[in-house]
Amino acid sequence: MQYKYVIVGAGITGLTIAQKIASELDEKVLVIEKRGHIGGNCYDYYEQSGVLVHKYGPHIFHTTSKRAYDYLSQFTKWNDYQHRVLTYVDGNLLPMPICARTINMLYNLNLSTQEVEGFLKGVADSSREIKTSEDVVISKAGEYIYEKFFRHYTKKQWDMYPSELDPSVISRVPIRYNTDERYFTDQYQGMPSAGYAHMFGNMVKSENIKILLNTDYKEVIGDIEYDKLIYTGPIDYFFDYTFGKLKYRSIDVVFETKDTCDYQPASVVNYPNDYDFTRITEFKKLTWQKHDKTVICKEYPTWEGDPYYPVPIDAQKKLYAQYKEKADASKNVVFAGRLAEYKYYNMDAALLSALELFDTQINV
Ligand SMILES: Cc1cc2nc3c(=O)[nH]c(=O)nc-3n(C[C@H](O)[C@H](O)[C@H](O)COP(=O)(O)OP(=O)(O)OC[C@H]3O[C@@H](n4cnc5c(N)ncnc54)[C@H](O)[C@@H]3O)c2cc1C
Repeated sequence: MQYKYVIVGAGITGLTIAQKIASELDEKVLVIEKRGHIGGNCYDYYEQSGVLVHKYGPHIFHTTSKRAYDYLSQFTKWNDYQHRVLTYVDGNLLPMPICARTINMLYNLNLSTQEVEGFLKGVADSSREIKTSEDVVISKAGEYIYEKFFRHYTKKQWDMYPSELDPSVISRVPIRYNTDERYFTDQYQGMPSAGYAHMFGNMVKSENIKILLNTDYKEVIGDIEYDKLIYTGPIDYFFDYTFGKLKYRSIDVVFETKDTCDYQPASVVNYPNDYDFTRITEFKKLTWQKHDKTVICKEYPTWEGDPYYPVPIDAQKKLYAQYKEKADASKNVVFAGRLAEYKYYNMDAALLSALELFDTQINV
């Protein structure tokens, strides 16, 4: 087999590059994907009851980039969903990010938006030296908010307390002094109106794109001649774990179908202090699907399973740097995306990085 371009991985990174090669260079491209579907971790499907769910956990598209939004809008329409999250604290559901109503409910107060800022500054320990993520939160919001919203949630998410994590992990404490209760304030937000898989299907509708599913690239790459390989799989796997395995935090996503139309008052409810799961998502509230049943998922962080989140500690950064050096020296191979760069990317950032890669390393 002969292809000028071969792409490993059919996630948003790989598919964006494939779409650009096929449409703008009019060249043939082979995409090799080890799973049985395209879309990578953004993949969605209709589960047994007919409700659209996100297989690898909830994905909400949001961006400040007109370029990212316009690019995807060629392949999908959007609903105008604006993300809202509630947090379960001591039996109450409080808005997240922390805003005026959160403070009033948490402290049983009735402060105006002007008074909230002063109140928070009063409880925060602004003179605290910042050495860890714990210091970041306490310096901005004080011990009580740290305890109720951050300490246990982080332990569940990372299996480490904020005091064990670099300040960059909780670098920005989400606090608003106003009444805006949306989770994101990005200009462009929404969900693909017919789902992510449908949108990705539209991206790769081209005679120039061939997709090989259910195939680990190592099974076939020896039989393919190519000029350039774009690799979006795990970087340590590419180099046969020469320096050891990179660590990832994973999530066990457990779905439950409920015989009711409406399960919870927001699409996502966080559980920082109770239960073993971190949050519950009700998909219909994201997708606006009409159905007489509803499906929720609970997320249980784990060290087993698919690689999800790179672990933000120095030892892992150093290990990745060793692989990066080898990657930089590889001829005809470009490493891109969250697994090959060992980096957490939101969808829009992964997409923008893929567009940039096409402009600077392929269309040259
Ligand atoms: C739980 C969770 C929730 C998220 N929520 C959001 C959100 O709300 N909003 C947002 O913007 N972003 C979200 N993200 C981030 C989003 O998932 C990523 O930005 C996106 O998946 C990155 O795409 P990618 O193509 O780089 O990687 P991936 O989607 O992981 O694609 C890589 C592909 O490579 C394939 N592959 C790996 N190894 C091989 C191999 N050996 N051979 C062949 N194929 C291989 C994989 O199967 C995969 O399909 C979330 C991520 C997680 C984990």
